[in-house]
Amino acid sequence: MADGDQSAKRVKPGMEDQGNIHAEATTPSYILTRDATDRNTFNEAVWGRVFNHRRDTNRIPIAVAQASCVAHVREAVELANSKQCRVSVRSGGHSWAAWSVRQDAILVDLAELQHMAYDKKTKIVSCSPSATGEQLNDFLKVEGRMFAGGHCPDVGLGGFLLQGGRFPAIVTSFHLLTRPFLQMYNCVYVYPQSMFRTVFQWVIDICPTADPETEIVCLAKRTSDGNDIEIVAGFLSFKPSKEEAEKAMRRVHDSRPAGAKVEIFCEPTDFACQYAGQREEQPTGHRFCSENAYIDNDADDVPGVLEKAFTSLPTQKSFALYFSMNPTSRRPLPDMAHSMQSDHYFALYTIWDDATDDAQCTGWVHDIMKDVQRHSAGSYMGDADFQHRTTRFWSRENGERLRDVRRKWDPEGRICGYLDADDSSGVQGLKNEFEWVDKTDE
Ligand SMILES: Cc1cc2nc3c(=O)[nH]c(=O)nc-3n(C[C@H](O)[C@H](O)[C@H](O)COP(=O)(O)OP(=O)(O)OC[C@H]3O[C@@H](n4cnc5c(N)ncnc54)[C@H](O)[C@@H]3O)c2cc1C
Repeated sequence: MADGDQSAKRVKPGMEDQGNIHAEATTPSYILTRDATDRNTFNEAVWGRVFNHRRDTNRIPIAVAQASCVAHVREAVELANSKQCRVSVRSGGHSWAAWSVRQDAILVDLAELQHMAYDKKTKIVSCSPSATGEQLNDFLKVEGRMFAGGHCPDVGLGGFLLQGGRFPAIVTSFHLLTRPFLQMYNCVYVYPQSMFRTVFQWVIDICPTADPETEIVCLAKRTSDGNDIEIVAGFLSFKPSKEEAEKAMRRVHDSRPAGAKVEIFCEPTDFACQYAGQREEQPTGHRFCSENAYIDNDADDVPGVLEKAFTSLPTQKSFALYFSMNPTSRRPLPDMAHSMQSDHYFALYTIWDDATDDAQCTGWVHDIMKDVQRHSAGSYMGDADFQHRTTRFWSRENGERLRDVRRKWDPEGRICGYLDADDSSGVQGLKNEFEWVDKTDE
């Protein structure tokens, strides 16, 4: 991605006027048009809520609709129909590649569309897509309920639940079944980089029979002086009491490899504390490149596949993450689009603050993924950028079905599809194929 000139428009010869909405007396005040809005105001409306500061500012919408009610959303789509242009959507602004910012589209920003209500009888919470995980869980806490959104407090529910381009319409309200709020207890073990293989294999081995109400991760991050990398094994248990957490985590604790620099056993924690930690790990105002893969269950040596990623982090703030998914990954899935999973989820979060480091940092990510992808079953959309790498995001059957849904409900491609290279996938959707597999090999 490049920081380009915001005024440089990519308009095809002969179609110079098609990409403009001329401000008319009837243009509602919540719609800011590119040609009639002060440049700084328009730029702020386009980019102000985008989390990632590594941005392709060559992409310029023709208008931003700052919708605060459902009627505004409808009007913006009707305007797009009459102008024959596309509509893009923004809820929380956290998609890594800024999927909401599209060339010559009307961007519907849902920040001001806000509502939240809980039904005690059904235990369903209704909320607007721009609500964040933190806002939702704050709201639900007094009801003794919770909803599992993004780990980062500010991720919008809209993108978290739908991801970019998957849903060929605009959702204005979600109705979500909540679950009981339990206490949270943390076990953390920090090891030197030299113990990477031992610690990683321990995490993989213990996961299938570990407590199912515990989230298990292994991550690599730099020490505070930046000289070394440390390997952190983390176990976050959701339990009604400390006693139950200690009972559930005892086997993990007793089997931990010797040699930890730090050991924490069943320390009470809560959402506020967990969200604060995430905020620190993924700070605002930075440049990011995120990538991920579900490593194939048949991969011979998972620590070996991921060793380079975990032991060569390019900047102080970057980290590599492994989520142990087994046995969750082994349960049959209900009838839903999200159908890609394996026992091993791996993601890279590369973080820096100076544009001059873009090539080095993105180059490191692409270099790691070039090898890792050959051991993968596919990827998770939320941490992907299909402008640079395409892969499988669904089972073959579900991927086809999703393409059919898009073609049926939005045959003209009014709603922006996936932001692939050149933003050209449109109504066809993504191919759901490994880009590195020779077709004759399959
Ligand atoms: C710091 C950070 C931490 C993250 N942590 C996690 C995590 O812990 N777990 C995880 O799963 N993911 C995580 N993500 C990834 C995140 O889930 C995705 O990037 C998600 O798309 C962001 O949602 P959003 O609404 O904030 O983004 P937006 O950029 O606002 O939306 C992304 C896209 O989703 C679609 N969309 C959004 N709202 C609607 C709607 N109302 N109707 C139709 N389509 C819509 C649109 O295509 C839109 O362009 C993280 C991202 C960041 C930047």
